[in-house]
Amino acid sequence: METLPQQERLTTLRRLIAYAEKIFQFSDTIVAGVVDRRRKPRIPTARIVQSVAVLFWARLGSLNALELAANSRFFQRWLGQPVCSADSLGRVTALLDAAGLRSGIHTIYQRLKRNKALPDQAGLGIAVLDGHESHASYRRHCSGCLQRTLRSGHTERTQYYHRQVTLMLLPAARPGCVPVRFLLDHEPQRVGEDEVATALRLLQRVLAAYPRAFDVVLADALYATAPFFNFLLARGKHVLAVLKDDRRNLHQDAVAQFAAFPPVEGCFRSRKCLWWDFPGLLSWPQVKVPVRVIRSQETRTVRRQLDGQDETLTSDWLWVTTLPQPSVPTARAVALGHQRWDIENQGFNELVHGWHADHIYKHDSNAIECFLLLAFLACNIFQAFFALNLKPQIRSGRTRAFWSALMTAEILAGVPPSRSP
Ligand SMILES: [Zn+2]
Repeated sequence: METLPQQERLTTLRRLIAYAEKIFQFSDTIVAGVVDRRRKPRIPTARIVQSVAVLFWARLGSLNALELAANSRFFQRWLGQPVCSADSLGRVTALLDAAGLRSGIHTIYQRLKRNKALPDQAGLGIAVLDGHESHASYRRHCSGCLQRTLRSGHTERTQYYHRQVTLMLLPAARPGCVPVRFLLDHEPQRVGEDEVATALRLLQRVLAAYPRAFDVVLADALYATAPFFNFLLARGKHVLAVLKDDRRNLHQDAVAQFAAFPPVEGCFRSRKCLWWDFPGLLSWPQVKVPVRVIRSQETRTVRRQLDGQDETLTSDWLWVTTLPQPSVPTARAVALGHQRWDIENQGFNELVHGWHADHIYKHDSNAIECFLLLAFLACNIFQAFFALNLKPQIRSGRTRAFWSALMTAEILAGVPPSRSP
């Protein structure tokens, strides 16, 4: 990897913060809007929010790592004082008001939308929804933990875990930029409810705050349920979900159609495809409109590493959707179906796991909810900075892990942040 030009070294975090202040008024609007439930706070809430934002930007990975860097000149200038102890950071975050953090994310969304940085994909606003488990433990648990019984031989053990449902926007790219993946919100799954119920609570809140942010939700097979489809239809939104054979009547109906009608040939990326596309199916009467089932049988050739021979791989995809024909043709619907997986592989995995967002910084329901919202906040700002502000020649060939390592170095070297770009 080439080294960075002299003027770009150890200035990334400084520039990221200057960008956040200039575009989003980070300190004065977003940070200032967050409160907590302490009666007589000794440490200002703003210091906690700013410290945790840096914890995520530099991907320090733990509150102890943040505490170890506490005396850096960086923090003296950024916070006006050293970072408080790991203990205090955890304790105050457990008392933070999640609504203030969500409103901060909304401010970022509004500014980016106004700056035309979150354009629709060919006239459609796309969102993807998914559930994630943040940790699992046999020992540590809290009142908000979900639990399950695992059997091994004759022994049974109770495992505790937390799970959230996250909604992410997948806008197109602004010309000359990479697209900004925007994490809109998440909702913790409660004891005794299933993931779809959690998702409906999330969507209820999101649709009130962002009524026009998206037109269609992409989701896994778990969400191919009538309550989920009807909920979105009633609010003027479309759904595209993976279809499995547990949706028995619809699946059998679709399979009969595949046998009765020939496919059409198509192409997705470099893969040759056979497509079946049947709108107007009535075999899922619990959903308030007829649904459309799309199947894509895809063939691609890969070179085997072992012997250098070409191997042909075939995959078979099945989706159920409310997206209409012909305004969303088969090729577009197939691409959307795949986009859900691209996001699983590149998007959620990096954003939720690569950012240490699934780490339990403090085992308390409210702390877990707020740390994840703080990760979304930091991540959205970084995404915007990365896509819209970093020059392509500086960005290219360098992973996001590279930038976070550079930011850690800045903190340890005590490079002071700047409020002006
Ligand atoms: Zn817990």
